[in-house]
Amino acid sequence: MRTIAITSASGFDHVTPDGHPERVARLDSVSGALGSLSSREASPASREDLARVHDAAHIDRVFAASPDSGHVSLDADTWMSPGSLNAALHACGAAIEGVNAVLDGEAEAVFIGCRPPGHHAEPDRAMGFCLFNQIAVGALHALEARGLSRVAVIDIDVHHGNGTQATAEREPRLFFGSVHQGWIYPGTGAAHETGRHGNIANRPLPAGANGATWHPALDELIEAVRAFGPQLLLVSAGFDAHKDDPLAGLSLEEADFARAGTALARLAQETTNSRLVCVLEGGYDCPALERSVAAFVGALQAA
Ligand SMILES: [Zn+2]
Repeated sequence: MRTIAITSASGFDHVTPDGHPERVARLDSVSGALGSLSSREASPASREDLARVHDAAHIDRVFAASPDSGHVSLDADTWMSPGSLNAALHACGAAIEGVNAVLDGEAEAVFIGCRPPGHHAEPDRAMGFCLFNQIAVGALHALEARGLSRVAVIDIDVHHGNGTQATAEREPRLFFGSVHQGWIYPGTGAAHETGRHGNIANRPLPAGANGATWHPALDELIEAVRAFGPQLLLVSAGFDAHKDDPLAGLSLEEADFARAGTALARLAQETTNSRLVCVLEGGYDCPALERSVAAFVGALQAA
């Protein structure tokens, strides 16, 4: 697939406290992985863009919390430094530009390499390192601003994408499917959570699961997306299911992310006329993150 990257230097100004796993160094790893891939800088999202997903009170709270110096915490593990708001706005803008790039034929696949991540941010609150939910903002932009009627998100981060699921709960034109380690943070994502519109699928896996059980679960999500029939496929591309990751207990390797990239690219080719946008979420062992992103993006390019 013709693949480009969208990044933002603003992500280097989102500084978390010493020892926090979601740290600036992750962006160096992602930059290394994207290598010679054609890449451009994102513009920030507008308040109107955010408001398609987030309540006004949440947006106001995050803007008001933005510190002039030091750090402030929005919950036990979600922090803002003076550059965080700008970074989060650019991450959301990047998701919107990625959607526009594939809808306008500029690219077939886009990798959004921004931080902070977004999939835990719910319509009314920041949580789990996430201020705004950029993949949900991108999905709602496609539905509301670009006139699409069916958009699918597959979330391969090791944690359940509770914020994106909360968005799908109130938006039947959005399908959300997630494969993740069950019974860890954020505690949601049980198999029985299918949504009142039937547009949600969850595949929780036990600690220690490796590719032998992870890929069949992803394949089930892929079949559910085929049945949904989306015009655009978005992927919450977290790489913390890697065996070296310190935050969770699944056992994927780089080759598994390459295989997932191939499968997701094929799904986009066959169901969405090659419209695929992948948004970086987690991945906290920097060497594993760099190798995994490289493997995943390489598979998109080769598909
Ligand atoms: Zn994660």
